[in-house]
Amino acid sequence: MAVNREAYLQIAAELGAKNITLVAVSKTKPIGDILELYELGHRDFGENYVQELTDKAAQLPPDIRWHFIGHLQSNKVKYIAPFVQLVHGVDSYNLLKEINKQALKQRRVIDVLLQVHIAQEETKFGLDEEELNEIIGQWINGPMEGIRVCGLMGMASFTDDQQKVRAEFNKLKNIFDQLKTKMPAWPLRILSMGMSGDYKIAIEEGSTLVRIGSLLFGARS
Ligand SMILES: *Cc1c(COP(=O)(O)O)cnc(C)c1O
Repeated sequence: MAVNREAYLQIAAELGAKNITLVAVSKTKPIGDILELYELGHRDFGENYVQELTDKAAQLPPDIRWHFIGHLQSNKVKYIAPFVQLVHGVDSYNLLKEINKQALKQRRVIDVLLQVHIAQEETKFGLDEEELNEIIGQWINGPMEGIRVCGLMGMASFTDDQQKVRAEFNKLKNIFDQLKTKMPAWPLRILSMGMSGDYKIAIEEGSTLVRIGSLLFGARS
């Protein structure tokens, strides 16, 4: 399956005009596909699996900004800590602590997003509002010098019901706005929501970053 250049150019222009970041989700796709978008000037790519990400990063130009968008296990943080641009799916205090530890070891500050559970499906990872508040409380008691919390990430339900998807994104936007008031010390400027099937709704509801895979690279097998 080839890269859909036409779709890329159209989506990149659409998002660029609105100042929204496009993360091209390249999981399961070959190096050649990534290079094709790279040669068109694209730099932000997203991957879900640590091993796949480190393999690809080693073979591709160093100025690619790698976004980790999957579920990150604490014992694998060390493999991506030296180079990752943004970790989207932080969903526990323990994971945050481990990222901080590895960041300090690398003498870096790692940018992260807290993942909030907005879908009704049980299978989606993420914090509920109570857990989010717990993390805020823990942070206030012990800020982490190796971490910059830059915003929130969420995934809507996988459904054709657009009203439901819209309501879920709207909920995340409200949580994001409240968090800005609650945590003025955090540089909260990224709201990562929207994928191939729902990015237009996500943008209407206030997304600042969309994660798009299949529209650019074709369906995954
Ligand atoms: C795979 C994935 C995407 C991209 O999905 P598409 O529907 O192919 O655009 C976005 N976000 C996350 C968290 C993913 O796992």
